[in-house]
Amino acid sequence: MSTSEMPTARTRVVREPERAVYDREAVYRILDEGFLCHVGFSVDGQPFVIPTSYGRDGANVYIHGSAASRMLRELKEGISVCVTVTLLDGLVLARSIFNHSMNYRSVVVLGKATLVDDAEEKLRALRTLSDHILPGRWDDVRQPNERELKATSVLRVPIEEFSAKVRVGPPIDDPEDYSFPTWAGVIPLEMKAGKPVPDSKLDAKQEMPEYVKNYTRAS
Ligand SMILES: Cc1cc2nc3c(=O)[nH]c(=O)nc-3n(C[C@H](O)[C@H](O)[C@H](O)COP(=O)(O)OP(=O)(O)OC[C@H]3O[C@@H](n4cnc5c(N)ncnc54)[C@H](O)[C@@H]3O)c2cc1C
Repeated sequence: MSTSEMPTARTRVVREPERAVYDREAVYRILDEGFLCHVGFSVDGQPFVIPTSYGRDGANVYIHGSAASRMLRELKEGISVCVTVTLLDGLVLARSIFNHSMNYRSVVVLGKATLVDDAEEKLRALRTLSDHILPGRWDDVRQPNERELKATSVLRVPIEEFSAKVRVGPPIDDPEDYSFPTWAGVIPLEMKAGKPVPDSKLDAKQEMPEYVKNYTRAS
């Protein structure tokens, strides 16, 4: 399915449609800034929405986990999933309580997850996940062994049917509320790395890598 076919009937944003974004590159930028998604799927009529990490490689999102986890077990049967990523950019304080809002960038991807069983693609996907969260880390650490790889499932979700929604800017009040005497505006929110804490068992000679010192999610 190409971007020109977006939105589909299932991915058309209904409320505040002017905030909808169906551009693939814009969707990729949001996916690349986040690394936590919520995966929604239904088993015997019961919906589950499970938070997990992900990585993007081209037009695919990869998720991984213990081969024994319910999410991975169910998903590898090729059932339909909804993958959602949300970046929260601010609290929007209006004059009226009903016009309060949030600034955000969010993505919804609908599709079928497929088990990655080709050994090379599996390793590449795991590296993608690692690089997506912390670029540079994969090359600095012990590589996965056969036992670890066997115990881990990797799933691929193609980014074929998708939407994004973006809210930016100040509060929008009803005209008669602009004179109401209260503070209004935006409290910006961002994900910031704190000061790294070395492991107490760290060899004193081990220097902190640049990617740890300068960790940021900003794109
Ligand atoms: C941080 C945050 C806070 C929010 N708070 C509220 C709230 O308090 N109340 C509220 O009603 N809404 C809230 N929203 C918006 C909410 O996500 C939906 O957009 C909203 O419920 C309207 O959905 P709809 O009826 O237009 O579309 P639906 O019929 O629910 O969905 C149709 C399709 O539109 C697309 N879509 C819908 N919403 C999004 C989205 N956010 N991002 C990407 N694609 C989307 C999907 O492809 C979906 O399949 C919030 C969103 C975010 C990110």
